[in-house]
Amino acid sequence: MHIKEMFYSFQGEGPWVGYPQIFIRFYGCNIHCAYCDEPDFVEQRHNYTSEKVLEEIQPWVAKKPHSISITGGEPLIQVAALKDLLPQLPLPVYLETNGTLPKHLAEVLPWITYASVDYKTGFQAEFTDFMAQLKDLPGAFVKYVLVRDFPIQDIQNIVKIMSALNPAMPFVIQPVTPFAEVKHKAKPEDILRAYTLASKHLSDVRIIPQTHKFIGIR
Ligand code: SF4
Repeated sequence: MHIKEMFYSFQGEGPWVGYPQIFIRFYGCNIHCAYCDEPDFVEQRHNYTSEKVLEEIQPWVAKKPHSISITGGEPLIQVAALKDLLPQLPLPVYLETNGTLPKHLAEVLPWITYASVDYKTGFQAEFTDFMAQLKDLPGAFVKYVLVRDFPIQDIQNIVKIMSALNPAMPFVIQPVTPFAEVKHKAKPEDILRAYTLASKHLSDVRIIPQTHKFIGIR
């Protein structure tokens, strides 16, 4: 499998912010977001077997972290590798995904305890199929990265899909934390507008920024 990096740190986003985790960051993504903070550099791609991953994370497993974040990039593009690795992991799996590959999700669903699912503009059908599989998973939540002048249609789509599947599932609105281009930063009125619309139909809507960059951890 192609892995960019592995490390021990703390979850910086969403309802489980602050919990210690082992991060396995898979290389590569199937889409391109303007605010992405994981640019692909081929020299950062390392080839691993499942055995090598298990060996490398062992010292961190001994610290008894909350879970293992399978992140990227988009980890589901390497679904064959995940099918081999996930059943062997010694801690709950916390999948961080862009929600665009529902067929791949179906292949690894039995091993997922937590799922942080982004909604990406233009992938409404894929997101619907994705969330239909996760609607009853207690550890699942939806995340929307809010940029300046975001399309309000995105929030309308999320609300429509989530309220039909499970209106009590947490929905996290995450104002983008600028990495390279400050122009994407959401305005306070953007945040309020998104919250007001979503909370009319969903019962657990939260505004949680990305915390890594505030406190200087990765
Ligand atoms: S889905 Fe995630 S990793 Fe892929 S381009 Fe968008 S922000 Fe980057």
